[in-house]
Amino acid sequence: SKAQGKNTYHWFDHELIQETIRKYQLEQELMSALEQEQFYLLYQPKVDVKKGVISGVEALVRWKHPDLGVIPPIDFISIAEESQQIIALGAWVMQQSCYQGKRWLDAGQEVAISVNVSAVQLAHDDVYEMIKRALTEAALPGYLLQVEITESAIMENSNHIIDTFSQLRALGVKVAIDDFGVAYSSLNYLRRLPIDILKIDKSFVDDCVTNQKDRMIVRTVVQLGHNLGMSVTAEGVEDEAQLALLKTEGCDEYQGYLFSKPVSAPEISELLFSKR
Ligand code: C2E
Ligand code: CA
Ligand code: CA
Ligand code: CA
Repeated sequence: SKAQGKNTYHWFDHELIQETIRKYQLEQELMSALEQEQFYLLYQPKVDVKKGVISGVEALVRWKHPDLGVIPPIDFISIAEESQQIIALGAWVMQQSCYQGKRWLDAGQEVAISVNVSAVQLAHDDVYEMIKRALTEAALPGYLLQVEITESAIMENSNHIIDTFSQLRALGVKVAIDDFGVAYSSLNYLRRLPIDILKIDKSFVDDCVTNQKDRMIVRTVVQLGHNLGMSVTAEGVEDEAQLALLKTEGCDEYQGYLFSKPVSAPEISELLFSKR
């Protein structure tokens, strides 16, 4: 009814105001959260499709807020980007990931670490220096680091991005395109940029067993990647049927709850010894 409609709008406005207040509050608190060591990293295994063994891990940040509990990145990354605080937070994530990679290496486990780098970080002049510094300080060899960058971040296709990717590659660092296929997929950047890995977005993996179009997209992205000399990773793999299909389609690597959700560094160490 009309009355109900009105109520709904009233409720919605209220929610919107609450949301705005909460966003503002989080933005204010982000500043001190880094100093107060409220962030931590979880790691999600990446698995070699053919061998069934862990081929690397992706670092995923969490915020342990003193009052609100654990806040997932979807609730604060965009706020950190808008306020430029992602520069400091992203540098912290990179440094911690490199230290952790070195710890695993020293323990005799060569684990490639993937770190998400946001568009705001990538646009920053110092992004290459920041990554190089993190590697040097941790004494982690570059070949054990991968950076994951979303398509939308590289659409500008600027010389700065080409230079950054080339410089990273010279260190042995690999570049992955995250959420491939979702945003403004353009073949133009695939031929211009030095890219090593395509990550097929979860939204194509979800229904690839039942939806023929999704399956064809998966097949085509795998072939596209391979034809361009890239490795292809599927994200969000939740069941055996999806994995079997990805194997048939020749996908190289997968990630998803089927193998493991993101877990702590010690849990990764256990997985490395048991499942490798
Ligand atoms: P992403 O890079 O696409 O990461 C994959 C997300 O999907 C992660 O969520 C992961 O926990 C989740 N996931 C993995 N496997 C499955 C599955 O089988 N099923 C389902 N339903 N979900 C799965 P998370 O950790 O909440 O991260 C969300 C997004 O936040 C990431 O998406 C990434 O864009 C961003 N993010 C996380 N950590 C960082 C960071 O350190 N820096 C930046 N810039 N962004 C980050
Ligand atoms: Ca990612
Ligand atoms: Ca994704
Ligand atoms: Ca993403």
